[in-house]
Amino acid sequence: MNDKSNGYWWCPFCQCRIEPQDVTNQETHDIRAGGCGNSVVWGIDLGLSYKQLQSENRELKKRLSRIEDKINSFAENTEDVKAEIRVVLLIAEVLELAEGK
Ligand SMILES: [Zn+2]
Repeated sequence: MNDKSNGYWWCPFCQCRIEPQDVTNQETHDIRAGGCGNSVVWGIDLGLSYKQLQSENRELKKRLSRIEDKINSFAENTEDVKAEIRVVLLIAEVLELAEGK
């Protein structure tokens, strides 16, 4: 099934990429192909592995925590805080795309 391009199927249960022929029409990991039968998700390939995405996510959380610190300490340079927020929002957008729906 599916003729999507520039992406891949991912099984959150098996934590691995799934070949399109091993995905059922119900978008589950095909047990006839040795799959687990759970729902798979579609990920857009941005050249990032799942582990890289997880590490990006950790970095994002650190950035958010730094922003929180800045806000809490009433940073004098509000432009600096705004710039940091814009960067984080951009990264979050990319991660959302990369993680697929
Ligand atoms: Zn699976």
